Amino acid sequence: MRVRGSLRVNGIVQGVGFRPHVYRLAQRMGLTGQVRNDDRGVHIEIEGTKDSVEAFRSALVDNSPPLAVIQTCTFEDIPLVGDREFLIRESSSESSATTSISPDIATCGDCLNELYDPSDRRYRYPFINCTNCGPRYTIIQKIPYDRPYTSMAGFTFCSSCEREYRDPSNRRFHAQPNACPACGPKVWLQDGDGRVNCSDPIAETVARLKRGEIAAVRGVGGYHLVVDAANEQAVRQLRRRKGREEKPLALMAPDAAAIRRICHVSSEEQALLESHTRPIVLLEALPEHGLAESVAPGNRFWGFMLPYTPLHHLLLRDNFDALVMTSGNLSEEPIAIGNEEALARLQNLADFFLLHDREILQRCDDSIARVAAGEPGVIRRARGYVPAPISLPVPVSIPVLACGGELKNTIALARGEAAFLSQHIGDLDNPAAYDFYKHCIDHLQNVLQITPGCLAHDLHPGYLSTKWALRQEELPNIAVQHHHAHLVSVMTDNGITAPTIGIVLDGTGFGTDGTVWGGEILVGDAAGFERRSWLQPVPMPGGEAAIKQPWRMAVSWLLSVFGAKAQDLRIPLWENLKTNDVDLLRQMIDRDVNSPKTSSCGRLFDSVSAMLGLCREVTYEAQGAIALEMVAGEDSVEAYEYDSRLGEEGPIDVGPLIRAIVRDLERGEPVELIAGRFHHTLSNMLVGSVVSAREKSQINRVGLSGGAYQNKLLFEYMVGLLEKEGFEVLTHHQVPTNDGGLALGQAVIAGVQYASGDR
Ligand code: ZN
Ligand code: ZN
Ligand code: FE
Repeated sequence: MRVRGSLRVNGIVQGVGFRPHVYRLAQRMGLTGQVRNDDRGVHIEIEGTKDSVEAFRSALVDNSPPLAVIQTCTFEDIPLVGDREFLIRESSSESSATTSISPDIATCGDCLNELYDPSDRRYRYPFINCTNCGPRYTIIQKIPYDRPYTSMAGFTFCSSCEREYRDPSNRRFHAQPNACPACGPKVWLQDGDGRVNCSDPIAETVARLKRGEIAAVRGVGGYHLVVDAANEQAVRQLRRRKGREEKPLALMAPDAAAIRRICHVSSEEQALLESHTRPIVLLEALPEHGLAESVAPGNRFWGFMLPYTPLHHLLLRDNFDALVMTSGNLSEEPIAIGNEEALARLQNLADFFLLHDREILQRCDDSIARVAAGEPGVIRRARGYVPAPISLPVPVSIPVLACGGELKNTIALARGEAAFLSQHIGDLDNPAAYDFYKHCIDHLQNVLQITPGCLAHDLHPGYLSTKWALRQEELPNIAVQHHHAHLVSVMTDNGITAPTIGIVLDGTGFGTDGTVWGGEILVGDAAGFERRSWLQPVPMPGGEAAIKQPWRMAVSWLLSVFGAKAQDLRIPLWENLKTNDVDLLRQMIDRDVNSPKTSSCGRLFDSVSAMLGLCREVTYEAQGAIALEMVAGEDSVEAYEYDSRLGEEGPIDVGPLIRAIVRDLERGEPVELIAGRFHHTLSNMLVGSVVSAREKSQINRVGLSGGAYQNKLLFEYMVGLLEKEGFEVLTHHQVPTNDGGLALGQAVIAGVQYASGDR
């Protein structure tokens, strides 16, 4: 019996090779009909025997292309038409399918096989790609996503590539970046003397890297500075030139097996490493790793990624155990993307350049991810993730542009049931990053065709993102408290809209009372929140200077707990401080000069780190907290006693914790032990406080958000304790826990508050 069915497939099904998949299936099963994209997804009509139509339906879903994500697939019987063949139809509305721009995707297995096949016409071609892999977001100038609007515009197809592109049964059907050695982009080598004459620029790059030289290599979202990770001298040289003293450097290894010789890799971590987003994954280094110590001094977590372009594979395979692949910039500046720009900006950093002529149109850093409490989460969201949408549990009432925070900025555009976060932009106090910020705002609106009707910004009046928002006078704007945005961000990340208790721990954020918040227990939802309890506030002497110099926070905490007796304490901190400096600081605090009060969790970590003599001044953000996490001992360490009645409501008294730490220090207890106890005790105190918040609010759901949870020890303690107490625990997965996820919360809050007119 013959039947005809109409199938509608929704999800990520455009630009991922779905129609060729349908076509091939229909061909194989001898079915007729048609397939087309429309603005709701993919629509298929299929005709044949009842059995083969059934078989088609299950194979369609079970063997879908690697990048496709099928959300729904409906089937309906329709009258027979009797067509003779199966056709891929162009759909008139295709160009308006605006939200289907794919992120950049790591080289697929099929392309990799061809790359190493001497008989293939793309043998060792560094730009091989297909419908299932290759650059997307970073090569797009504007929509529709068609070759003339990408940086492939300047390359005219040869006849072989053209044939593949037109053939529905081919893996490269409509693959916009399709190219080959005859018609596509090329690589070449350049050094201080100009273009280097060599037959194989990649082999020459490998040879120079082996000699210890520093390369600048053009990639997908920008340049990398590259050295042999086993060469201590070369790594040090790179650090010196880049002005990066201690912050860990990212690494790339040829495959997961190579990484397993250097770091612990769990099965979840391996899956994350091998996912097509190919993030840098934070892994714990083995004691015998064989790489240069200066890759990540004093840090047991190393950032590893696997090759995600053909060029990376060619550089690494059979050549290196690991390469340092750090972003091509001076510290804190945005990554370079243009050839001229790179040659100028990186000339004092790199010994030579491996360049190519496929322009990078959107700057996109490598993403950073990790597995914590057994689950994957992204810490820096950029290449491979952007611009994939994040689905919202409730549609926004009006399209919103959320302007983000100040540090680790990202912006978000929300429309209907989707939010689109920009790639990691950086710290806006850097002028180049601020320029990039403005570019991202324009570009994202452009490629997503979203015109915001409302702006959301942080409550902090001094943030450049706030100032930018307030200058857009034609649009209404909604100010969102920083930690409220964090709470709603983690709720949205988990599809939750109902009121939730938030334990928001971070560095600093502007509070509704004008003080600096950062250790907050909030209860609320997108419509509003209540500040239930918070870490006891102390002065932050010198404001910004106290962030750069953790010793200031240590002195502040000691003075607030011990008063005048603080300087009599026999602790290592005093040995390295000048009496003069301390007196000056005390006067600032006493006279309340430039000493705002803060309940910041990050500053508390800083102060303990300085008290323990681990970090008195930082060279990169959160270094004090990281040092404290790195020395903290095993799980078996016992917490300090604390009064569980503290912090039911209002300030949580941290004084007893500081006293206990000082007592241990005076007794000469090892810092490993004290650091471990500090982590445990603080977690106990915070969880104790939400247990009492639960009794009062009858809410059993806790969201964890804020940069302090990048501390894996603190994060895992908190999750463990909360789960033991029977809480439903919400943590971040799709967006960063740090300020990189702030814009998502801002967008949702503005969407809700705009509708209620509550602003
Ligand atoms: Zn491929
Ligand atoms: Zn070609
Ligand atoms: Fe924050």
